[in-house]
Amino acid sequence: MSKPLRAVAVIDSPGAASAIAADLEACGHDGRCLMFASGEDDLGRLSRASCTIVLACQPNPALKPERVIELLRARDDAPPVVVSAESFSDDEMVSLVKAGAHDCVRRGDTRRLASAIQSARSAPPSPSPATPDATALTAELTDHHRALIEEIPALTYVCWADETRSVIYVSPQLLAMTGYSTREWLADPGMWASRLHPEDRNHVLRRYHDACKARSRFVSEYRILDHQGGTVWWRDEGRVMPGPDGGARFVRGFVLDITEQKLAEESVRRMRFFDQLTNLPNRSLMQLRLSSALSASQESGRPVALLILAVDRFRDTVNTLGHQCGEEIVRELARRLADTIGDAERVARLRGDEFGVLLPDADAELARNVGGRILKAFERPIMVERLPIELSASVGVAVAPDHAKEGEDLLRRADAAVQAARGLGGGTCTVYSAEHDLHDPENVALLGELRRAVEADDLLLHYQPKVDLHKKTIVGVEALLRWPHSKRGMVPPGTFIPLAEKTGLMRELTRLVLDKVARQARGWQKDGWPLPVAVNVSARSLHDRLIVDDVADALRTHDVDPARLQIEITESAVMADENRAVETLSGLTGKGVGISIDDFGIGYTSLRLLRRLPVSELKIDRSFVMGMAGEAGEDTAIVRSTNDLGHNLGLTVVAEGVENEWTLDLLSAFGCDLAQGFHIARPMPPAELPGWIARSDWKMAEC
Ligand code: C2E
Ligand code: MG
Ligand code: MG
Repeated sequence: MSKPLRAVAVIDSPGAASAIAADLEACGHDGRCLMFASGEDDLGRLSRASCTIVLACQPNPALKPERVIELLRARDDAPPVVVSAESFSDDEMVSLVKAGAHDCVRRGDTRRLASAIQSARSAPPSPSPATPDATALTAELTDHHRALIEEIPALTYVCWADETRSVIYVSPQLLAMTGYSTREWLADPGMWASRLHPEDRNHVLRRYHDACKARSRFVSEYRILDHQGGTVWWRDEGRVMPGPDGGARFVRGFVLDITEQKLAEESVRRMRFFDQLTNLPNRSLMQLRLSSALSASQESGRPVALLILAVDRFRDTVNTLGHQCGEEIVRELARRLADTIGDAERVARLRGDEFGVLLPDADAELARNVGGRILKAFERPIMVERLPIELSASVGVAVAPDHAKEGEDLLRRADAAVQAARGLGGGTCTVYSAEHDLHDPENVALLGELRRAVEADDLLLHYQPKVDLHKKTIVGVEALLRWPHSKRGMVPPGTFIPLAEKTGLMRELTRLVLDKVARQARGWQKDGWPLPVAVNVSARSLHDRLIVDDVADALRTHDVDPARLQIEITESAVMADENRAVETLSGLTGKGVGISIDDFGIGYTSLRLLRRLPVSELKIDRSFVMGMAGEAGEDTAIVRSTNDLGHNLGLTVVAEGVENEWTLDLLSAFGCDLAQGFHIARPMPPAELPGWIARSDWKMAEC
């Protein structure tokens, strides 16, 4: 006897429940059955309900028969589902059967229901159409997996989590990736480790062993040497698999060939960090290296020096020779620079004709030596299109931590130093000092105060007498600017003139000095002392054509004889731009004023240039004159030969910085014409001058 029917009904209304129960009874079955009607919430219970048949009402918006069928087919016993409805269209029946319904029976058609129940009970449980035979499926899937593993664009492997990482399985992509067959690779347990790029080997093996120890993931990008000895970049992602004892047993992973990606990255890096023309590191890379050198220096307490060198008058050279020659020159300079330093990685092309050199562990002295060697290397002419091109360069040095602690600040200070070196006429190496730097907060404040002092007419002129060594007479005075500062005391011109030179204030300052000097000269003239006065004119003013007009204006305003005015310009200012200097100085002599070359001897003015300049006087720099008292005798020789040189060129020679009688006597013995110095008189306010003259052994010259 067959088991009693245990039916479950999924109904759409209480009326449907009683109709189904009546239909079941009419078929000779127990009309009591489990009813589900509350929609999705009931699905869990329905899927577990014990039953031999399920009757599902159609239409049922809460629990559609298709949904019920799907749910029950997931069960191992998968009870048959008979759909009951007031009526069915043909299409509905077809689609319900396709969805897995055993049969569709109209409500009240108990004969059909009885046969449907009978056939449903005698039919074997319908296998899920999506579930083929499990063993066959497993075999098929294994084949698919293997095929997939061997076709994907990645190498897969399994290896022992031991010292050698000897390989148990490696997929055949290995051949295309490295030129090695899987057989070769499997035959040698140490193959992987031995083919690691020497630069990567240690860190990759360390990471591998760490991952095995921690049983964590192993992810690494490294280089492998292929069969030809070429380099292939691998990204290796492995997972450490534990053995029965819980320890690391295998590593299972995959490898992607990332060579192309690495090459692209490298070329992007080269574009970002290297200069295309010279192949030297560029400013960005220099900045990165600088900041790591500065961090290291903070830890070690050792200095770091930064040199910036710029080719003098490079623009003019390029304008004359053309852009292509300019590039050739830059390339050659880059080569020389790298050769001189011996390590191209320490050198960078910062922009145009500017290069940087980073010297870890170098102080200012060492950096200055290196700067000197670079300048020497640049002295050799460069052959461009078989033409020898002579160039010179200027080098600026800044040293951390003395001049700055941050990279950007150090760069800025080295830049300020190179500008200062350029201002000296080029061909020199200058170590940074605060006066070079307009951005130095102290200098910014000082400049503001200077501006206010100029406006308030707080600046003074002191005058230092100049004497004739042959005639023992006073032949003139030099006007020297003084800034009495309420907090700083008397600020020396060496502090504020370089600052004013970098701004538009210099012209104003020069005009102010010229005006004061001309007024003073006029005053002395009226008092019966027609003393010639010398005025210092800075490099910036010299290269400003307006200086000629400014001088003429001052003389005219105060009605001073131009012959009473001498203009002093430094040798370095002349060298900064020879042609412009010749032009301006000729303009000045054209107005009748005399020109004197100041601080002579510390630059390298050529004889040719000296001849070209319309100068009448040469002032030997005080450092040599003061050095005459030393024992070496070298300075004495320089003063003597400079004196001779001046005389040979027909110039009056002045020795400044005479601090003692002995030097004065020696200068007289050399035949030096004029002298100036603390031993004779210190610079003094104009009001003190008459008293000094009255007391002095030096008499007024007949003017
Ligand atoms: P300089 O034109 O070479 O002036 C001579 C400097 O040497 C002065 O320094 C003077 O005080 C100093 N001196 C003179 N005799 C001796 C001596 O026996 N021993 C020593 N140790 N020093 C002596 P000061 O006044 O500090 O001026 C420095 C420089 O500032 C000047 O050098 C000049 O280049 C510049 N300067 C001064 N006044 C002006 C100015 O009105 N305009 C411009 N553009 N520059 C000025
Ligand atoms: Mg002077
Ligand atoms: Mg001087």
